[in-house]
Amino acid sequence: MMDYAVHSLDGKRIVVASHNAGKLREFADLIGPFGLEARSAKEYGLAEPEETGTTFEENAYIKALAAATATGLPALSDDSGLVVDALGGQPGVYTANWAELPDGSRDFAMAMKKTEDALQAAGATEAKDRTGRFVAVICLAWPDGYAEYFRGEAEGRLVWPPRGNLGFGYDPVFLPEGHERTFGEMPAAEKHGWVPGQPTALSHRARAFQKFARARLGSP
Ligand code: IMP
Repeated sequence: MMDYAVHSLDGKRIVVASHNAGKLREFADLIGPFGLEARSAKEYGLAEPEETGTTFEENAYIKALAAATATGLPALSDDSGLVVDALGGQPGVYTANWAELPDGSRDFAMAMKKTEDALQAAGATEAKDRTGRFVAVICLAWPDGYAEYFRGEAEGRLVWPPRGNLGFGYDPVFLPEGHERTFGEMPAAEKHGWVPGQPTALSHRARAFQKFARARLGSP
């Protein structure tokens, strides 16, 4: 059973358990209206834990728990990725790994090309065969191990060549359903597609955050 006294956000301080600059920018936008004092794991000088899970939920928990334990504060993490139907759900939880170079740095132009090559090899050349979704699981964890999860998904399809240089990661190849611009062509506010009080967000991260804000921050 949840203990509201222990597991509250009344202290207003929270650690965002990420080192990813793109995610942190988006979290700053999303958290902004709620008056939480949010600092990142990077600002606390925390190491990045190894993501050994096989689901978004497991990896989100690993990251949130590590940051909560190290700081003594409630922690909010995001584990996310691109799930491509024609690739049997790949790259999925390994989305960041597909961008990894031998020296440990990441090259997303290469990762997008790798995804496109895999789609071509699978014969997925027509738009109808190139469907997928971005998934984000936000985990809110406390130092005692208690955790809550909020999942957001954005349906769409993969385009080639990449379009736009906004956003981060695989944004330039993801065309959200019902839209004509890729995430890479959308300014951040349009990619989020949400301000508190409005019914539906657009991006996976904003959708997950919207659930979190409604459950935990009193958002309408
Ligand atoms: P992880 O959650 O740290 O395992 O990394 C998820 C990876 O998925 C990131 O490195 C990005 O490449 C990709 N990703 C997650 N969310 C987005 C997004 O909003 N836009 C583009 N790429 C994303």
